[in-house]
Formats: sequence, C-alpha cells, structure tokens
Amino acid sequence: MPGDRARSDNEDTIVTRSTGATALSPEVREQVDLTLEHVNGNHADTILFIARHRGDAPTATDAEAVDVDTEGVDLEVTIDGESTAARLRFDTPVSTAPEVQGALLGMVASARQAVGDAEPLTSLEEELQTTGELLTRVTSVVEVTELSPNLRRIVLQGGLDDWEPYEADDFAFLFVPRSPDDDTIGDGFSMSSWQELPEDERPPGAYYTIRRFDRDASSIELWAVLHGHDEGVGGWAARAEPGETVAVWGPRRFFRGAEPSFHHLLVADESGLAAVGALLDSLDPATPATVIAETVDADHEFTIAERPGTDVRWLHRGDAAPGESVGFVDEVRALDLDPETTVAFGAGESRQVTAVRGYLRRELGIPADRVFMTGYWRR
Ligand SMILES: Cc1cc2nc3c(=O)[nH]c(=O)nc-3n(C[C@H](O)[C@H](O)[C@H](O)COP(=O)(O)OP(=O)(O)OC[C@H]3O[C@@H](n4cnc5c(N)ncnc54)[C@H](O)[C@@H]3O)c2cc1C
Repeated sequence: MPGDRARSDNEDTIVTRSTGATALSPEVREQVDLTLEHVNGNHADTILFIARHRGDAPTATDAEAVDVDTEGVDLEVTIDGESTAARLRFDTPVSTAPEVQGALLGMVASARQAVGDAEPLTSLEEELQTTGELLTRVTSVVEVTELSPNLRRIVLQGGLDDWEPYEADDFAFLFVPRSPDDDTIGDGFSMSSWQELPEDERPPGAYYTIRRFDRDASSIELWAVLHGHDEGVGGWAARAEPGETVAVWGPRRFFRGAEPSFHHLLVADESGLAAVGALLDSLDPATPATVIAETVDADHEFTIAERPGTDVRWLHRGDAAPGESVGFVDEVRALDLDPETTVAFGAGESRQVTAVRGYLRRELGIPADRVFMTGYWRR
C-alpha cells in the first residue's frame, strides 16, 4: 500500500514506499509484469534472499515483488507471520524492461556479496550458472502416438547418449523445423546459432517437459498439446512424423524436492501433465500425492502415471477455452490441506497457476520454498 512504513531503519534499502517515483511506461510495465510473475512464481526463494540480505529483513520468511517503478521495487515481506510492505531502491533509475531485469539481478549480486557463501545459491543464481553450460543436441523423431485427442506423445532418439537427467520435472527447449524441407536444424545448430538468426528465419522453439528419459535407448519422451494453432511448436506437433530432425537444449528443472512424507499436490492443465507424470514417477511409493488435472472432458482423460495410491481428480472445462476456467482454486480449497506438511507443484496457463499460488501462499500460508507454481503458457 502506498505510504506504508517498512520495518527497517536502513534508509538505503528498505524505505517508506515512494509516492513520488515515476511510473514505467505502459509498454514497459506490461513486460515488467511478466518478469514479476516469473520471479515470484519461479524464484520466490531469490526474492526472499534479497529481502533478507539487501532489505535488512533477516528474519523474513516470505517475500513477493508486487510493484516496480523507475526507482525501485516494492515487496510484501512476511516477518513473524505478519505481512509488511518494503521497498528496495535501485542503484540507478531504470526506464526499460532490460534495465529492470538488470537492476533486479544487481540486487541479487549485492545480496550475495553481503552474505558470501554462508547460504546456498538461490534458484536464480543456480539457473544463471547452469544455463551457460547447457548443450544443444540434434536428434530425431522416432515415434508419434496419441495420448488423448489433444495430446501427442513424441519420442526422440539419436545424439542423446550423454543426456544427464535430474529426474524431476526436467524440461528442455525444443527446436522444430518450420516446414518439412526446412534444414536449418542440423550439424552445428545450437541455441546461440538460433538466437543469432533473424526472428522470421528461426525454427519454432518452446520449452517442453521430458516425460521420461529411457537410459537404455537414450531416448526422450515428450507430451505435446495440440492447441489448435497451425504455427509454432504446437502446430508442428500436430503434423510431426518419425524421421524429422529436431533439437533440444537442456535439461533444466524447476521443482526442487521436499520431504517424502509431505503431501504432494500436483496441479496442471494438459501442458503440465508430462511434468506431473515425471514427478509422480520420481516420488517414493509411500509419498501421499493428489493430482488435479484439467482437460476438456472424460474422453480426454488417460493414465498420467502408473502409481497406485495417487488421488487423481480430473476437472473438465467443457466448451470453455483452455486457460479460462476457474476451477483449480475451488478444487484445491476443497482438499483442506495442512500447510505444515504440504508441498505443491503446478504448471499450466499463467493466470490460472498464479491464482492457485496466491491461495496456497497467502490464504493457506504455505512457505514459498514449498510452493512451485509456474506458468507454462499465456492465453
Ligand atoms: C518449463 C516448461 C515446460 C513445458 N512443458 C510442456 C509440455 O510438456 N507439453 C506442452 O504441450 N507444453 C509445455 N509447455 C508449454 C509450451 O512451451 C507452450 O505452450 C508454448 O507456448 C508452445 O509453443 P508454441 O510455439 O506452440 O505456441 P506459441 O507460439 O507460444 O503460441 C501460439 C498460440 O497458442 C496458444 N497456446 C500456447 N500453448 C497453449 C496451450 N498449452 N493450450 C492452449 N493454447 C496454447 C497461445 O496462447 C498463442 O495464442 C511448457 C512450458 C514451460 C515453460
């Protein structure tokens, strides 16, 4: 809330929320909102890290970035169970989205400088470190089958002998040909050569979950949503055939694990079902797990993983467009979860997943390091 007083006396960092700061332009604002959604969802531990070590709130247990203007970022910080407003000032004023991202990264770097190696790397620091080392592998489609009317199972093989999975919700950036005679993906193709191409010459690419890595066959299984658009990777998935050359850059992961005795809540639309399946495979047999999965209707249901004891609840959106139904939060609320012993993973349309995260973190009070909710696509 504007004008709220934060707890710290450290006026260099946490200060009274500015009323005079200049707002970012609407175009920049839109991009910055996506950045905030991404860091709050995927790197909540990193926001907490800067709140603790840059924001002089060492006992904070949760933090969320709620607003950014030209001069700083506003946080909601939880201290002793109470939510309080805090503001971190940028070293220099910002006006573009890359400058905002740079300023946030600068805060992480200065928090790290303050704390040294007394604390493990945050998820964002780990990501920055590991993505620089990832390889692009050129591989081929060897199998395409239907899992449901809007989900295809695609198996890739060749060039994957040195693939080292995390065996969690592993994902990779998948590059696919623009047309059957597009030979851009071949020897020497890599993430950096793709980034150097003009946008209209780039093969389509998007992140896809590794549903399964078969070590014996050195093959990767993906589940791709047929979302009805001819373009992009989804468009390719609808016409994919064995023999086609594609490439994968990865692996990366988002879910960071939790006590096996904790109740694992897994929430997803079709785009997140491969991640849910991979996570179910990775859990101890005794770990309690509940899946809330959205699809069109009963004809689109299928077995996500062979795991006895898993409570799988399907939500049907019927004629509603993907990403528009509001059933997830009601279904999660009805579970009557214990915040002390629940860990949650969610993947799907960004706004739907954000709503579930809001319920779990703010209403139910599950700490940020046990809520892994990530937007996989935007409607
Ligand atoms: C870490 C991660 C893992 C992912 N894993 C998977 C996976 O295993 N399987 C999978 O299918 N997707 C997965 N996704 C989502 C996938 O990357 C996006 O759906 C992506 O937009 C697909 O790219 P595209 O080129 O087909 O479509 P885009 O060019 O990005 O979008 C074209 C149009 O399609 C719409 N659209 C995109 N995705 C969907 C969807 N799922 N349903 C309905 N409409 C959609 C967009 O709103 C847009 O209008 C994952 C995303 C992330 C970040």
